[in-house]
Amino acid sequence: MTVKLFSSRRRPMHLGPYPLERLARAQTPAHGHISGAAESLQLSDPENPLSLANSMQPYMDVVDNMRTGTSAKDEAPIPTDAEERARHMKAACYFLDAGMAAVCRIDGSMHLATPVENASLQQSRADTDQGKRAGPEQSVFTTQHTDMQVDKTTELAGHSHALIILVEYSRDPEPGEPGYEWLRNTQAQRAAVLAAEIAGVMTCYLRFLGFDARTHTATARELDFDRLLLASGLAESGGNGAGGISNPYLGTGFGTAAVSTTLTLAADKPLTSRGLRDQWRAHGPGWWFGFNGSRPGYAGRPYKNRSFHLGPFPMEKLKRVESTTTLIDADNIPRVPKRHNMFLRAAKGDLGEKTQYQVRRFVPKSPFSHATAPLMSARVPLQSGTPAGQTAPGTDDPGKNADAIKAALYYLGADMVGICELKNYAWYSHDSDGSPITPYHKYGIAILIDQGYETMEGASGDDWISGAQSMRGYLRAQLTGGIVSSHIRSLGYPARCHSSMDQDVLHIPIILEAGLGELSRIGELVLNPFVGPRFKSGVITTDMPLEPDKPVDFGLQDFCNQCNKCARECPCSAIPFGDKIMFNGYEMWKPDVEKCARYRITNPGGSACGRCMKTCPWNIEGVLKERPFLWAAMHLPFTRKWIAKLDDKIGNGRINPVKKWWWDLDTDDNGKVIPAKRSNARQLVFRQPIKPEEQKLACYPPDLAPAPDSDISGPDRNRGVEAYRKAIKPEIYRQGKATRH
Ligand code: SF4
Ligand code: SF4
Repeated sequence: MTVKLFSSRRRPMHLGPYPLERLARAQTPAHGHISGAAESLQLSDPENPLSLANSMQPYMDVVDNMRTGTSAKDEAPIPTDAEERARHMKAACYFLDAGMAAVCRIDGSMHLATPVENASLQQSRADTDQGKRAGPEQSVFTTQHTDMQVDKTTELAGHSHALIILVEYSRDPEPGEPGYEWLRNTQAQRAAVLAAEIAGVMTCYLRFLGFDARTHTATARELDFDRLLLASGLAESGGNGAGGISNPYLGTGFGTAAVSTTLTLAADKPLTSRGLRDQWRAHGPGWWFGFNGSRPGYAGRPYKNRSFHLGPFPMEKLKRVESTTTLIDADNIPRVPKRHNMFLRAAKGDLGEKTQYQVRRFVPKSPFSHATAPLMSARVPLQSGTPAGQTAPGTDDPGKNADAIKAALYYLGADMVGICELKNYAWYSHDSDGSPITPYHKYGIAILIDQGYETMEGASGDDWISGAQSMRGYLRAQLTGGIVSSHIRSLGYPARCHSSMDQDVLHIPIILEAGLGELSRIGELVLNPFVGPRFKSGVITTDMPLEPDKPVDFGLQDFCNQCNKCARECPCSAIPFGDKIMFNGYEMWKPDVEKCARYRITNPGGSACGRCMKTCPWNIEGVLKERPFLWAAMHLPFTRKWIAKLDDKIGNGRINPVKKWWWDLDTDDNGKVIPAKRSNARQLVFRQPIKPEEQKLACYPPDLAPAPDSDISGPDRNRGVEAYRKAIKPEIYRQGKATRH
């Protein structure tokens, strides 16, 4: 990632990363040469069986299969101001990682004479209609979301506006670099799939708000993208694109998707020709250096000066160590069933009826968070499948395979990737129905997705965007992990993607052992030096020969020893102020998972909680001025205490109102979207530290946790508190272990 010189703190979210506001605008609708060509983008590449694009088709099909659907009966109580609505919708697209987003009015000239249809999807539907066994890749067409049923209507009745989404190309993969054979000639496909995912979520969101909406993608649409781009000011005539149009900052290097809707939005104005003065404003020093926090011109395309397999952050500069910085006593870690997960316990009724009711609406509670769910549910069947009958030639070198996999994941949008050999304890012992799980793959590939600094800036951490922040990370981890696991299978190796929707592994030990961070005071949460604790994860497991990474040491254990900001700011005191303990064979600051889960599930002033992530001093933006502090925190132990104090002093962790773009919306018992009655808006609270011996925390080792298939089994809190109090200190555990040996 290119380090930015200027912070985006004063840049509202709806402006996006590129300085579109610098472009001169016309007052009249756009005119220009239009190709009128409307072909479906071919995703798979029959010429190159190694192409990553071959694994993208099913993911595009999922979006196209849900292009149409019914909307909520009642319109949500959203602002009536069309400008505010447009700002909100564009900001939501940027939150989902759009490169650019804009709005236009739809007129008759934008309708294609012949709609573009997704041939792969048509074939799958025909196969399904004929009862042919379509295989796992096609089984996505059984979705739980009945409101997303297929509707072949091509009319866009009442759709007056379109939201247009661009995803920029990265630089072209170069011959000889890791992953080249997989990535070459896939820019259009990659950008189309990423743009389609964003459009698919926005479509669901609009429907949950009670407005009709339809997704238009590179493979299926009724609208002419070139005309939409011109009308919305995302492109201008000129350039060598198919329609003779280009974007002032991206040229022709972008993919497009759109959402048409009945919701009235303020339209952006088309671009106009630029005189010298306008050109200076659009492409002068302000743009080049990114004066207002926009993406600087010098950054060029993503990965301009970096090999894909290294990823956007300089992880290669971290100190690597032979074992994790917190003790993991591999021989004494019991495998745990999914039934121990506190959210599953809540769903079973272990935490009482109120929590059981609330956990069912944990995701649906916020309509924007909910909007990610239909896509994610529909993609679950794609997470696993049968590998090709024989292994592809040239795939027996573990180092090359590891680099190629990292390159592919980073190319698709992962923020961090690491690989480890899977230990038995990384696998759940039993599924949620109580059936045993036998570990089935040798390697784990951990994928981290940044939840986004900008939105975190505008949030309290436990308000109405919190749930969507998590879902956004899970969504992209499932997409990247799903495509790459499918690709590995196509190369003849077993592989499975494990997402928050469906997984057989515990992510934390895999992330730790794959060298993506250290265990923090927050407890069951790994912290990475470049994105802090602000990420969500996905995992791929596989038997493809891979070279594992080593764990990292960047001084976090000492830093967390001298800082307790997360414990201080946690709304329910679930994070310990005291020292680490041993729990199930792990050395850790053990949080009170029951308290945390109860708060997140029943939070009346928001849709989840991630306040510990928000307030941690390692939650940084990534601008140049932070670099010396980051370096000092990693390399100069004596500075850590002062850096933690300084972080408070300059107000990091407070809410930046410029960045608040979302609406505070709740959902009532009937599924109707209503205004939130209450919204958490805490600044730093500076709660007095609780003496460790007075902080009542509970933990539930296996003998206090439910059996894999048990019915309701409420936690015995008194015994949990006692277990915490009696937990062995790591130093004593280490001594005992040394004596035993
Ligand atoms: Fe506390 Fe919220 Fe973090 Fe849970 S998620 S530990 S409740 S701050
Ligand atoms: Fe560690 Fe402080 Fe971050 Fe908590 S807030 S995880 S103690 S650095």
